[in-house]
Amino acid sequence: MKRALNFNAGPAALPQAVLEKAEKNWLNFNNSGMAIMELSHRSKEYEAVHNQAITSLRKLLSISDDFEVIFLQGGASLQFSMIPMNLLSEESTANYVLTGSWSDKALKEANKIGKTAVAASTKEGGYHSIPNLSDIKVTEDAAYLHITSNNTIYGTQWHQFPDVAIPVVADMSSDILSRPLNMDQFDLIYAGAQKNLGPSGVTVVIIRKELIKDNGKLPTMLNYHTYSSNNSLYNTPPTLAIYLLSLVLEWVEETGGLEAIQKENTEKAHALYAEIDESNGFYIGHAEKNSRSQMNVTFNLASEQLSAKFLAEAKHAGFVGLNGHRSVGGCRASIYNAVPKEHVHELASFMKNFRLNN
Ligand code: PMP
Repeated sequence: MKRALNFNAGPAALPQAVLEKAEKNWLNFNNSGMAIMELSHRSKEYEAVHNQAITSLRKLLSISDDFEVIFLQGGASLQFSMIPMNLLSEESTANYVLTGSWSDKALKEANKIGKTAVAASTKEGGYHSIPNLSDIKVTEDAAYLHITSNNTIYGTQWHQFPDVAIPVVADMSSDILSRPLNMDQFDLIYAGAQKNLGPSGVTVVIIRKELIKDNGKLPTMLNYHTYSSNNSLYNTPPTLAIYLLSLVLEWVEETGGLEAIQKENTEKAHALYAEIDESNGFYIGHAEKNSRSQMNVTFNLASEQLSAKFLAEAKHAGFVGLNGHRSVGGCRASIYNAVPKEHVHELASFMKNFRLNN
């Protein structure tokens, strides 16, 4: 069977090797006579999977003992609320850098919890770029600075991170594990799994231990302390999603780790940006060059009609998921870790041929 040329923004392509391994174990996980999702979350078999996923993440991202790795549900969207609920006090202000729709949404949720401030924004320019680090201004009473490391809808990405004296919180939903990270630069990072980590259903939060407070006033399930003090097993975790996450992490390790992944991602992104740059304005990239995302390549064609023709012909040729987000239109190719480089090169060739024929 030929796999689809899948450029979906999330849920997105998963590594074929992961799907094959899951299929092989589907009916009889580790000779238990059960599927993974039929096992108790208190069983030894499941616990081994759960702990392996945490260990692999720690290893891949070089996460020290200063951090907790926790698994939650509710997607990255629930983190928009949990972060201010857990980190903000009546005396402090949550600072946000606005670089796209997701950071906008994160700020809107924080507004419901406490005081907020915008530390920098590229909204006025139409979210074509990431602000210069020197333009970020935090308030004196800042509880944290929130950034969105990759803007899935606009196709921009941070290539350097703020160096500030307050905790840095990053929504890495659409670029976690796409490159090595220096965890010293962060205090909390979070990601819904459905792009680079696995299927939807599990959300990963990596949080510096000193930020976790046992705030008894918070609802139990909205309190990071509940997760950190119970190894994310206070209640039933999404066992199937965590199993698939563990297989994706194993695949990343087998692929050579984050440096190898980054190299491949750079090559994949270059194939598409080179076509945009060589097209003499036929393809118009949304992101400014120094803010380009290696995960979501966003572009327009000269007119809406031409964009529509491009998308229709691409669909006919078997490319899936190239429509831009419904809020911005245009075209977007999401090229997460698991999108094979051959598929990206096929898309680059398709773009070139379409350009030459139109
Ligand atoms: N943040 C970013 C950067 C995203 O791309 C998304 C989803 N596309 C979200 C947050 C929301 O994630 P979820 O659907 O897991 O709530």
